[in-house]
Amino acid sequence: MYTDILLPVDREHEASWKTALPVAIEYCRAFGAKLHVLTVVPGLGVGDVSSFLPMGYEQQLLDKANQWMHAFARDNVPSGIAVQHIVGHGKVHREILRVATEIGADLIVMASHRPELKDHLLGSNAANVVQHAKCSVLVVRARP
Ligand code: ADP
Repeated sequence: MYTDILLPVDREHEASWKTALPVAIEYCRAFGAKLHVLTVVPGLGVGDVSSFLPMGYEQQLLDKANQWMHAFARDNVPSGIAVQHIVGHGKVHREILRVATEIGADLIVMASHRPELKDHLLGSNAANVVQHAKCSVLVVRARP
C-alpha cells in the first residue's frame, strides 16, 4: 500500500522520532516500503544575516546535519530497511512538503509536537504539513 515513507526528524529533539520511528519502521516492514529520513537545517531568515557569519558557516551546518543523519540511521534503523538520508535547508514545513513531492512520498510519519509544549495539540510544522500535504500524513502522539 505504501512504497515511500517520509520521516522528518528534528535533530534537537529526540521526541520528534522516539515514538514515530518505530511506527515508520513497522509500516516499512509491513509494506516493503523505503524509509526516507529528512532533517531540516532552518534557514537564517530575512535580512542577510549570513554576511555577518564566518564563510561557509551554513555549509558546515549542513555537513554536520548530514553526518548526524547517517549516524542516526546507522544506530536506529534495522539493517533490513532501505533508507535514504535527506538534509533540507530552509523553512521546516516547506522543506518537508517539497521533499515529500520530490521523492514521491505516499506517507509522511511525524510526531505531533514536543511533549513539553503540553498546550499544543499539533505543533506548527505538523499542522502545516497536515494541512498542505498531497499524501497521507500519520501524526504520532506520544503516550501520556
Ligand atoms: P513543536 O512546535 O512542538 O516543536 P513541530 O510541529 O515543530 O512541533 O514538530 C512536529 C514534527 O515536525 C517533529 O516531530 C518533526 O517530525 C518535524 N520537525 C520539526 N522540526 C524539524 C526539523 N528541523 N527537521 C525535520 N523535521 C522537523
